[in-house]
Amino acid sequence: MLVAGVDVGSVATKVVIIKDDTFYFRTAPTGWSPRQAGTEVLQDLLSDLGYRKEELDYVVATGYGRVSLGFADKTVTEITCHARGAAYLVPGCSLVIDIGGQDSKAIKIDPQGQVLDFAMNDKCAAGTGRFLQVIAAALGNAVSELSEMAAGRTPLALNSMCAVFAESEVIGLLASGHDKGEIVAGLHHSIARRIASMVGRLGSFDRVAFTGGVARNDSLRQCLESVLGTDVIVPENCQMAGALGAALIARGYCK
Ligand code: ADP
Repeated sequence: MLVAGVDVGSVATKVVIIKDDTFYFRTAPTGWSPRQAGTEVLQDLLSDLGYRKEELDYVVATGYGRVSLGFADKTVTEITCHARGAAYLVPGCSLVIDIGGQDSKAIKIDPQGQVLDFAMNDKCAAGTGRFLQVIAAALGNAVSELSEMAAGRTPLALNSMCAVFAESEVIGLLASGHDKGEIVAGLHHSIARRIASMVGRLGSFDRVAFTGGVARNDSLRQCLESVLGTDVIVPENCQMAGALGAALIARGYCK
């Protein structure tokens, strides 16, 4: 049995292939064409494993570019796929916080990874990966450096969470001599508070999984722990949760 999950995200395209019980992962930037990115990332991974696309038994597509793929057997929403993938990566979790490039979501799930309830911000860039990319660029740093920059720093109080205004505020703060680390720590705290208010709409929870590309930011994970008052677990392959969920759903159709 050979199946694939393809998550065509706004920033990165992720592919998971399951061959029998072995999982293979691949990611690359989405770029300007979701269709091309999805096709190429899948094709690259298949070629490296020595398979042809025609040999795939089932393909599930998810992510914002899922409908543009064309060749998937089924498209499934990101909420469903992230829930399923996170439940596999962090067994027993009852709340999934996913922060990707263009949205953030909090999903309450049952032990099988079925969605019970969710809250989502996909209306503005505030608190998303794109927001952090804009701020990192304004600071002259890579998004992968933000976690270390903020580590152990006192968070600076910030007024703006709108990506456009926050960028101007950050430039102003730098000009008046504020420390980059304190600015980034302040942004992380603002994001964590926004997420906590989204989580508050969903009621009680036990074990928390943090997924999506932004989950690679450990300082932000620690901020989430402090505002939620509980452990927040980032699994290995946190950015692959949606594609993994899609692949697991694909596998379910083949049994
Ligand atoms: P999408 O599904 O929308 O493409 P992802 O879940 O792939 O989003 O996450 C993309 C986001 O992850 C980027 O906008 C960026 O902010 C963040 N990111 C990517 N790599 C890192 C890293 N090494 N450290 C921290 N954040 C990262």
